Amino acid sequence: MGHLEIPPEIGQVRDTLWAAGRPAYPVGGCVRDQLLGRTPGDYDMTTAARPEEVMALFRRTVPTGLKHGTVTVLTGIGPVEVTTFRREGGYSDSRHPDAVAFDATLEEDLARRDFTVNAMALDRDGTVVDPFGGQADLAVGRIRCVGDPEERFSEDALRMLRAVRFAAQLGFRMEPGLVRAVGRLAPRAAALSAERVRTELEKTICSPRPGGAEALFYLGLLERYGPGPVRPLEGLGRLPAEPLARWAGLCGALDRDPEPFLTALRLEGRIVRACGGGFRIWRAGLPEHPADWRRALADQGTEAVRAAVWMAFTAGEDRRDELERTIAQGGCRSVKDLPVTGGELAALGWNGPAIGAVQRRLLDHVLERPEDARRDHLLALLERWKKEERTK
Ligand code: ATP
Ligand code: MG
Repeated sequence: MGHLEIPPEIGQVRDTLWAAGRPAYPVGGCVRDQLLGRTPGDYDMTTAARPEEVMALFRRTVPTGLKHGTVTVLTGIGPVEVTTFRREGGYSDSRHPDAVAFDATLEEDLARRDFTVNAMALDRDGTVVDPFGGQADLAVGRIRCVGDPEERFSEDALRMLRAVRFAAQLGFRMEPGLVRAVGRLAPRAAALSAERVRTELEKTICSPRPGGAEALFYLGLLERYGPGPVRPLEGLGRLPAEPLARWAGLCGALDRDPEPFLTALRLEGRIVRACGGGFRIWRAGLPEHPADWRRALADQGTEAVRAAVWMAFTAGEDRRDELERTIAQGGCRSVKDLPVTGGELAALGWNGPAIGAVQRRLLDHVLERPEDARRDHLLALLERWKKEERTK
């Protein structure tokens, strides 16, 4: 079957291991991606060498996961994760269930991998080692477990979310038996850490087929986080493929305040705030007039307003141009942007909390009339306000 080329730097890592008498093979995602004609994001290598041998053989290494037998080797084109052949979970030795069994073979190592399309290795002559029919599944676009799906999901519930994620990323279907197994074992996803669940959900909604993420909801894999029902997500594909945009799109497809859901997933504060604020802006109705847009940007921040616009967009209301035009026009968005300083206001006779109040009044004024945001103009305005205060 397919003959694949790998970058010379990766070839060198492999050849060094073989020269030391330790078989080594590029494996997993990089083989899958190359067979699909895509450039692999990173390279993983599986080897008979133990971690300490790998560390002794290369000059620049990082002991990233010694417990699991993983050493990162740094090369000219980036890091390569080199992992010793393993069996599933090391269960083979019931007395040391957490220990890695370092006497596994390549076949055993491939057998412990999640899906057939991820369970292929590349031999030195460029042929693909494919004991589970990964190439056939690539050809028909199918995500299928290596072995019995119920067994594999019982060993590691994260695989259920990974199945959905790879289906979305690759544009594949999940094999029916796999889907049935998720149907039965989905409650076990509740035991996974929020961070791991969130990472898979994020990769799924940031993929070229974010609609695939609907499966995470209807299969019950997110139940613990209480998202409620979700509307179709395919439209997220028209948003930028970056986290803030896609999370906002997802929140727009939920019919409740998304903050508890996002917080439960331990999403980073920046995105929680933008999506929470965005949801409130969107629910209250997007701004109508340019001054309202400017005021929203000043009050809520650019990211929350953007999030609101993306939410509206997923619901069929496209206000993106209006927002981007307003942002591009620039201007004052906070008292810090005003062309007169607090010190100058003090010199003009305001003091204490009155300074803050007059700054907010100035900001309010220039949000309404951005053409007034010039020093001379504002100083004249301040003179007038001062006079008014005196005559009161
Ligand atoms: P990506 O492009 O997202 O990096 P990948 O296939 O490289 O895709 P990784 O999460 O980097 O995915 O994992 C590397 C390989 O390790 C996978 O291809 C798979 O063979 C194996 N693997 C990773 N996670 C699991 C798991 N939970 N269960 C079984 N095998 C796994
Ligand atoms: Mg990878």
